[in-house]
Formats: sequence, C-alpha cells, structure tokens
Amino acid sequence: MSESNQQVPKKPRSVSCPTCGKPVVWEPASSWRPFCSERCKLIDIGAWASEAYRVAGPELDPGEGSEDVPPL
Ligand SMILES: [Zn+2]
Repeated sequence: MSESNQQVPKKPRSVSCPTCGKPVVWEPASSWRPFCSERCKLIDIGAWASEAYRVAGPELDPGEGSEDVPPL
C-alpha cells in the first residue's frame, strides 16, 4: 500500500473587502461579507447613501456650470 493519496485541503473562497481591500473568507461565518466587518459595510453604505443624496439633492446651479449646455 502506498500513500500517494494527497489530501488537497479545500481552499476557502475569499474576496476582497470593497472598503479596505482586506481578504474576506467567503463563508457563512463571515456575516459581513463581502465586507470584512460591520464597520466597512457601514462605511460603504454611508458612501453610497451620501452619493445618492448628492444626486437626489435639488441643488442645481443654473447660473454656473451651464457651459456644457448648448444654447437653444
Ligand atoms: Zn474592510
């Protein structure tokens, strides 16, 4: 009997945290995946929310920045 049966350990799939880039193991235990922690998740959501808020904000300046708009 020869022991040529090499056991290949199952490599857990990991992703990079979108916020800090830290490798996060993709497993049920990682409840904040794809983020590494709740903090990173909140940071990302906060950034997204502020971005959405900015876009939704009716703060349009008709006076300035209208150079991109061709005159009618
Ligand atoms: Zn992170």
